[in-house]
Amino acid sequence: MGKTKEDRVKQLKKKRIWPSIVGFALIVIIFFMVVVFGIAAVILEVTNRKLTEGYENSTKVANFFLEDDGSLLLNPENKVLLYMDVMDEIEGISVVDKNGDKIWSDNGQYPDLGNALRGDLVFAGNKAFVDIIMEEDENVIYFDDSGSLRLNEALFYQLDFLHVLRDNNKAVLEFKIWFLIPTGETTVCVLNNLTIYGYDVQMMLLIMALLVVLVVIFSLWYIISFISVIVNQGRTSKIIYMDMLTGGENWLYFTKKSTKLIKKKSGKRNYAVVHLRMQKYRSFCTCFGINKGEELIERIYGAVKKKIRKNEVMAHYEKADFGMLLYYTEELELASRLEEMAQMLDETFLNIKLKFRFGVCEVEQGSTDVEEMYNNAVLARELHGDDKEQRIAFFNIEMNKQRIWERKVEDDMERALINKEFQVYLQPKFSTGEEKLGGAEALVRWIHPTEGFVPPNKFIPIFEKNGFILKLDDFMIEEVAKQQAKWIAEGWNVVPISVNVSRAHFTREDLAEHICEIVDRYQVPHDVIELELTESAFFDDKQVLLSTVQKLRNAGFLVSMDDFGAGYSSLNSLKELSIDVLKIDADFFRGTESLERGMLIVSEVINLAKKLNMKIVAEGIESREQVDFLTEQECDLIQGYYYAKPMPLAEYEKTYKVL
Ligand code: C2E
Ligand code: CA
Ligand code: CA
Repeated sequence: MGKTKEDRVKQLKKKRIWPSIVGFALIVIIFFMVVVFGIAAVILEVTNRKLTEGYENSTKVANFFLEDDGSLLLNPENKVLLYMDVMDEIEGISVVDKNGDKIWSDNGQYPDLGNALRGDLVFAGNKAFVDIIMEEDENVIYFDDSGSLRLNEALFYQLDFLHVLRDNNKAVLEFKIWFLIPTGETTVCVLNNLTIYGYDVQMMLLIMALLVVLVVIFSLWYIISFISVIVNQGRTSKIIYMDMLTGGENWLYFTKKSTKLIKKKSGKRNYAVVHLRMQKYRSFCTCFGINKGEELIERIYGAVKKKIRKNEVMAHYEKADFGMLLYYTEELELASRLEEMAQMLDETFLNIKLKFRFGVCEVEQGSTDVEEMYNNAVLARELHGDDKEQRIAFFNIEMNKQRIWERKVEDDMERALINKEFQVYLQPKFSTGEEKLGGAEALVRWIHPTEGFVPPNKFIPIFEKNGFILKLDDFMIEEVAKQQAKWIAEGWNVVPISVNVSRAHFTREDLAEHICEIVDRYQVPHDVIELELTESAFFDDKQVLLSTVQKLRNAGFLVSMDDFGAGYSSLNSLKELSIDVLKIDADFFRGTESLERGMLIVSEVINLAKKLNMKIVAEGIESREQVDFLTEQECDLIQGYYYAKPMPLAEYEKTYKVL
């Protein structure tokens, strides 16, 4: 898999999860802050209130002790007692002088001045200096050196929320505190027993509880949406890695998972990237429609998928191609497993007679590029040839050479066409009996600047695959038309020259018009040009083939069927296609064991063609016996090394031009 694809998938996932994670963390922080600060605020507020009250009361009491001139009352007992009745939170009063020496106390208690802390007490805008003394138990509030209020941890433990909410008259917290009120020469010390009741905190607690509930609701909502993001995340992954056609995993997943498995591989386990192709998928779709074709792909996928083990992967690639990563210990074991798979597929699709082929690329130590290995597996199948009996082809290094060659051909082909590296060679066809020149076939040759003379079988199949054959054939037709025009102008009574038209052309509906257009540039009569088609074109778009042939013949071109008998359903195609010439494939004249049978067939084919008003050309004729036999059978023309090999135009002209 290309790195960018992988990165994009990662990015897609990341983008969705990060805001959620950050959001969730924020929610948790907010929740704790609301709880902690809420409680702190409640305690601070309530305690502040109590302290203010205590301070105000203590001041009143202190003032009560003073004469009008600010000096201390001499006999305060009675007044104090009276006052203490009214202010029940005041537990004791004592007076000390500037040095802290005890002057008077109502019950003998004095504050521990050594422990006294001094700070600012700011309540409702009034600032006062007070000393607050910690009392015996821990439930004490005091001021620190910086003057801000601090809380003793003990306070928290004393707060019992539920208890407060249940009974608001109950004391939540009690603390004893000395307020030291300076009064000129003396300091009046008032001991307060401050109590915080339920009703003091209730309202604030309720508000806080409401806040907490809101935060909880919000958090819940957030958690739910967070979960749904995670669920969606899973769904996104599924969609990213799903093949819409088969419903299984797609190619992206295949390459990702395979790379992972290969990297993890250990011990004796070997891996192989396997390419599986169902052949003639296009023909199937032409006959039964795309929907049926796609249904078939899904069924093939389903059937093979059942045979895929744990730690193996399979995915649909495109059209009728599938990729698999399989493990094995011995090559033979892998081959027989694939053979079994092929048989299983044959049996599953018995009534439609499908053909399956495998290409295998064994994973070498250290190689992890699954895409490249898959291409190797495809190459193995292609080079092996799909028509062979053996359905499994293993990739080898030799094949790499072929691929390097293919790349070279692809790199050079455009330049070659511009530089006129492709040349027309002509191979004459001779009449039987008189043995006179009766026609010729144009065959391409590539005179490569570095590779030298390159025969067509080394580049035509490559061009057929990559589509360049369309340009090459156009070039050949044009060159032949140009040549014929020149020879006619020179007064030569030319013979028809045939040009090969690859099956790839039969995808364009205006093929006949296109050929006319090329030939008409040179104003040559159409009957000096013959177009050779192969039966295989039948497997593509039959309708286009039939109508093109019709149009070409109507326009006056000769049309021949090349390699007759080499393909599959020769006789059938003759029934539907009316053509001018039948070229009997050279294969009938090869070999020794089946030669007799071949001859029998040839003679019957010639009879049949004659009845159908066709001319017969026999190809690949190399001996006198063959010529004699064909003459006897009244074959029309003979093409083969017996008479001549394909030759350059100049040589052809020199040898055969008769004015
Ligand atoms: P083909 O159309 O069947 O061409 C006949 C092939 O048989 C030629 O091979 C020719 O040289 C060869 N041949 C002729 N007589 C004999 C013989 O007596 N014995 C033997 N052993 N061979 C003989 P060539 O030129 O190598 O072409 C191979 C194939 O390449 C052609 O088969 C044709 O399919 C394709 N081809 C060649 N030129 C073109 C072209 O311009 N366009 C297209 N589309 N295909 C072409
Ligand atoms: Ca031919
Ligand atoms: Ca041929």
